[in-house]
Amino acid sequence: MGEFDLIDRYFKRKATGSAQVVLGVGDDCALLAPAAGQQLAISSDMLVEGRHFMPDADPSGLGHKALAVNLSDLAAMGASPLAFTLALALPPERAADPAWLEAFSSGLLALAGTHGCPLVGGDTTAGPLTLSITVLGLVPPGEALRRSGAQLGDDVWVSGTLGQARLALGALRQEWRLPPDVLHAARQRLERPTPRLALGVALRGVASSAIDVSDGLLGDLQHILQASGVGARIDAQAVLETAATGASGQGAGSIPQDRLLATTLAGGDDYELLFTAAAAQRDKVLRAAATSGTPASRIGHIEAGSALRLQRPDGSELDPRQYLGFDHFA
Ligand code: ADP
Ligand code: MG
Repeated sequence: MGEFDLIDRYFKRKATGSAQVVLGVGDDCALLAPAAGQQLAISSDMLVEGRHFMPDADPSGLGHKALAVNLSDLAAMGASPLAFTLALALPPERAADPAWLEAFSSGLLALAGTHGCPLVGGDTTAGPLTLSITVLGLVPPGEALRRSGAQLGDDVWVSGTLGQARLALGALRQEWRLPPDVLHAARQRLERPTPRLALGVALRGVASSAIDVSDGLLGDLQHILQASGVGARIDAQAVLETAATGASGQGAGSIPQDRLLATTLAGGDDYELLFTAAAAQRDKVLRAAATSGTPASRIGHIEAGSALRLQRPDGSELDPRQYLGFDHFA
């Protein structure tokens, strides 16, 4: 199959449901007509085989995840999805594997459909398997949730549950074992993350800053602290409770406390939203969580200075440096 047949067969769809797409896949450019007065939010994320996923990764999950991590960036800005492009490098054996391509494109386009975010263009070339997506979103002027908005005294919140993706990764790498039901739930989080788009939109005008947790809770919190010029105190017990109430709740008891602490504080790939909001906004945060169907937990507060302080369950302080997350070039 040639390049153009491959694009037609697996990636060209009628951009249904989006009046804002004037022209999708097939011409030299896509044409979009975003709603008047909105700001465009743009983000790219790349997944490389061997680096971000294993060669035997389930192709449908891969399609899902490649888009999900991009949509998560929109969620973290409070933007709603408009459209996306896909730049794809395919090794010859993948380009000649219809079952793989079909599964990949279904996983990708199913999530796109769920969020009304059509694929409007891209590029396809031979090369080591690399998936690069650029997503476009819309946000009303002045309402984007930036990393730089955290204020003294704000609460620090996180959505959903943390650490499960890292628990699954550790089990797959045979660093540890997990009970089958815990592993199943955790793998879902690793392979099919849920972008918290509805929560992000609901937090417009409520949160003072936000980021999505891709590299680890404390590492990503550091980005907010640096951008905002503030410090924070985080309650490790409150963070642990986000793991204990997760889908792995029943099985969490079988995981040693120090591992649970490390995976919740430092584990990447959760794609939850980490955000700050003034204490006066607590009711509104909880309402945003309820209307978006995404729980949110208060895990600490913003302090003066620039230090990140971590309080142990027993109240003593814990050195946060060991939990500062993943650096791609370290
Ligand atoms: P050009 O040579 O003008 O860059 P291409 O031949 O690369 O165009 O692509 C033809 C059409 O197919 C364009 O509309 C492009 O956006 C689209 N396209 C190419 N690869 C992909 C892909 N992986 N997913 C979606 N659309 C794609
Ligand atoms: Mg091209």
